[in-house]
Amino acid sequence: MTRPIAVITGGAGFLGSHLCDRLLSEGYRVLCVDNLITGRRANIAHLEGEEHFEFIRHDITRPLHLDGPIDCVLHFASPASPRDYLELPIQTLKVGSLGTHNSLGLAKAKGARFLLASTSETYGDPLVHPQPETYWGNVNPVGPRGVYDEAKRFAEAMTMAYHRYHGLETRIVRIFNTYGPRMRGHDGRVVPSFIQQALAGEPLTVFGDGSQTRSFCYVSDLVDGIYRLLCSSVTTPVNIGNPREMTVLEFAQKILELTGSSSEISHRELPVDDPKIRQPDITKARRELGWEPTVELDHGLRETIHYFRHQRDAVPALEESR
Ligand code: UDP
Repeated sequence: MTRPIAVITGGAGFLGSHLCDRLLSEGYRVLCVDNLITGRRANIAHLEGEEHFEFIRHDITRPLHLDGPIDCVLHFASPASPRDYLELPIQTLKVGSLGTHNSLGLAKAKGARFLLASTSETYGDPLVHPQPETYWGNVNPVGPRGVYDEAKRFAEAMTMAYHRYHGLETRIVRIFNTYGPRMRGHDGRVVPSFIQQALAGEPLTVFGDGSQTRSFCYVSDLVDGIYRLLCSSVTTPVNIGNPREMTVLEFAQKILELTGSSSEISHRELPVDDPKIRQPDITKARRELGWEPTVELDHGLRETIHYFRHQRDAVPALEESR
């Protein structure tokens, strides 16, 4: 049997590595491309040596030439946490622009299907709530988050241009806040930060008064939505995320409850342009993909807390190793 072949850029990252697992289990051969700036070899250590898995260390902002057929290219390479893209602003802009162009070029050369990892950040600090795909967003192009938001907006435009002009088979997923095992402990995002702080007995750093909202999706639900989108014929963007919305303060209290921690809550300055509200409208995913999230927040968080507990106990010094 010949296996379909998938290229996943950012395949050693949090989402990319879970996608590698899913596509392998669906019978694909997986070529995982990563420059390991924010991805980690540890995320794919369990796959190395697998017959149908290959790791290629490459920076996708430079062209990638691969021999043989390829059936799909999934472009997941990018710094993705606010802390990362503030520390790596030029790389973030380059991977969203040049990296998307190179990934599209690879897909076009191979006649492959292309799937872009886009983001709820394309909606910026939204003035419409919840956010449907038809909303064009409220993004500050020159603010600190602009490097990520505009790179992803450019990536969407480029993807649609390849679709319209070259007839490439393309898919765009707009990913909302997602959490689970293999997040980097120190990427500064709220889920790993609060869990690590709670486990260490340190104060939970709530930015601002904590009244801003987010809606958290467990990684297995997200990957299932992405796989359904890849297999579908939907060429316009689709939101994938969990509509259960809560304030950051409520989220901090939930982490304290589930970890049994007696950490205090301490407030810090709210980052510039931090979106005040965020909730996906998933009507389109329900209708077009028959998808909706199934993992309860408490369950997903317990799995994630378990992962971070294990990281702390087993390999604290290696946690950030690449
Ligand atoms: N946040 C917080 N404390 C932290 C990290 C984040 O209060 O230590 C807040 C942040 O201001 C934002 C929300 O949690 O309102 C989600 O932040 P995250 O960095 O996870 O991702 P974002 O949704 O902003 O991309």
